[in-house]
Amino acid sequence: MVTISEAIQLITNNVKSSATIKRRALSGALDCVLGADVVSPISMPPFRQSAMDGYAICSHDSMEYTVVGEVAAGSGSNPHLNPGEAVRIFTGAPVPDTADRVVIQEKVQRLDNGIVLEEPFRRGANIRPVGEQLQQGDTVMAAGMRITPAGIGLLAGVGVSEVAVATKPRVAIVVTGDELKAAGESLEHGQIYESNGAMLAAVLSDKGYKDSQVLKAEDDLKVLTQTLQRALAEADVVLVSGGISVGDYDFVKTALNDLGVQQMFYKVKQKPGKPLLFGKKEQKLVFALPGNPASALSCFYVYVLLALRLWEGDKQASSRFQFAKIESNYHKKGDRAQFLKAKTGIDNTVAILDGQASSMLQSFAAADALVFLDEEVSHVEQDSLVPYLNIL
Ligand code: AMP
Ligand code: MG
Repeated sequence: MVTISEAIQLITNNVKSSATIKRRALSGALDCVLGADVVSPISMPPFRQSAMDGYAICSHDSMEYTVVGEVAAGSGSNPHLNPGEAVRIFTGAPVPDTADRVVIQEKVQRLDNGIVLEEPFRRGANIRPVGEQLQQGDTVMAAGMRITPAGIGLLAGVGVSEVAVATKPRVAIVVTGDELKAAGESLEHGQIYESNGAMLAAVLSDKGYKDSQVLKAEDDLKVLTQTLQRALAEADVVLVSGGISVGDYDFVKTALNDLGVQQMFYKVKQKPGKPLLFGKKEQKLVFALPGNPASALSCFYVYVLLALRLWEGDKQASSRFQFAKIESNYHKKGDRAQFLKAKTGIDNTVAILDGQASSMLQSFAAADALVFLDEEVSHVEQDSLVPYLNIL
């Protein structure tokens, strides 16, 4: 048995970036991890750019200027200004080489052929110098960064249309349990609908891992071993649901061992999700998740997601907690650390939801956070700050 932080550490230490790097159109690269630094082909801005609507001036020792022309955004003109001359200019337009500042129109009085400044402006005012944001050859985004919508904008802004990104892992979900029936079938006494397959495929897809398949296996060592062997052959990451506890029909641990999967940890001192196993076979990762739906999903958010991100080479990968004020007193039972289904509110508050049993998903379906209470915590006072994982 390991603690939560030991489990996280074991994952962090043992999951290496295993993706291949492929070139991809920027339009399809959202949420991918960069496989190489992107070097800027241009300086940004590429020319001295007006930051405001107003007048570009060639200063002299009076507040009065003659307006000799206009430069709009997109204009290729570069009029020559003598001291005391100005051009009307607009945001994003190229500032003439001979202008030394841009005065904003709100601070100017218009005359028939000119302007009078209401106040002096410093040299360079309202001019974005060439390369203010990036110089040609600078690293725009570094390898290991995940491409966010802002990242797409940044890369598109320097004219990049293709990037080298890490491939995403193929994931196989193996669901075990003789009691499980597919939706649409009728339930006999003792049977339930299989739901972890759909749920895990959904959370994978939600987090950007679209390439997953669900395999089903009976509670039979031979069948299970064959199914896991196939999963290991076809996927980079195998998620097993159920059969990892201590029941007589829980064969997952034995089957993984028989297949040569090296156990990195088994059992975490937490609730829910104690019977969690993490193993490796060469570069392939295996997480055997408890069958109880809320346990399986909690373990996904805390551990599996971290491993998937590390696999991609995401340098920011970590299980990062945020803090919010708990809405009411909470009493924690037992000596295990707990992850509690919770909902955040306005003003940085968080409420623990009713129905925390690991077999229940109703509270999870309404949750956007998992509040973390460490093992030594027994009572939390209303309004005190508690750590939580944002799961949306
Ligand atoms: P196990 O981990 O196999 O002992 O299963 C623990 C509990 O989770 C049992 O009540 C199972 O019936 C239930 N369970 C296991 N797998 C699934 C699944 N794929 N979908 C829904 N419930 C499951
Ligand atoms: Mg079972």
